Amino acid sequence: MNETESKEQAEYERRRAARRAARAKRRKREMRIRTALILFGVAVVMITGWQAFRFFRGKKAKPVAKEVPVVRKIIAEPPEYDVQLLTVNEYSRPGSVLERVRGVVVHYTANPGTTAQQNRDYFEGLGQSGETYASSHFVIGIEGELIQCIPCQEIAYASNDRNEDTIAIECCISDETGKFSEATYNTLIHLAAWLMGRYDLEIDDIIRHYDITQKACPKYYVEYPSKWEELKKDIREYIDAYGIVEDSTTDAET
Ligand SMILES: [Zn+2]
Repeated sequence: MNETESKEQAEYERRRAARRAARAKRRKREMRIRTALILFGVAVVMITGWQAFRFFRGKKAKPVAKEVPVVRKIIAEPPEYDVQLLTVNEYSRPGSVLERVRGVVVHYTANPGTTAQQNRDYFEGLGQSGETYASSHFVIGIEGELIQCIPCQEIAYASNDRNEDTIAIECCISDETGKFSEATYNTLIHLAAWLMGRYDLEIDDIIRHYDITQKACPKYYVEYPSKWEELKKDIREYIDAYGIVEDSTTDAET
């Protein structure tokens, strides 16, 4: 072997070693990538499996709690009432649209001994006298008689800030205590119960004028809050006793 030959040999060996090293390096890198891919795959399988397990376990557990439809009772018929709509006028029947009923406001007339008819006629007279702004959708008399003065799709002037979204009921009284007679009370319970169903209201949507303005109206039921609570309880019990399971239609015209 001459000098040139041994140089070539050495060069050849060096290249071979370099190639081998490069191959090894490549193999190492491929191995790392493969390992990473496998680990990733395992992780995906595990997470998906866990989710599937939870999903099916949840599915198995749920059918027991069947969806029970809420049975809601409503009073289908209002108490008997006389419709005597006021003439449209700026003092008692503005004719403005009441878009959505969100409550019922109970009032008292503060005028012992007057009848439902007299109170209705007083509201009608305001159109001429212009004495004040006042009215109510319904007036209940001492004998339990009921007059409608304003259609339920229009606002009344009775409840200040809540005129826009409530129905007003005026209750006549026989004396200064402001306590409703039994007949007035019974008509009020029936009317409020019917309105709750008609407008999809809760018992706490039945409020006193007092609850809006702190005015002592209806007097007796402001002075004796327990009597007001009792009145609301009587409405609930009335619905329980005489209500029918809700049918999606409501049909009264006024
Ligand atoms: Zn009032």
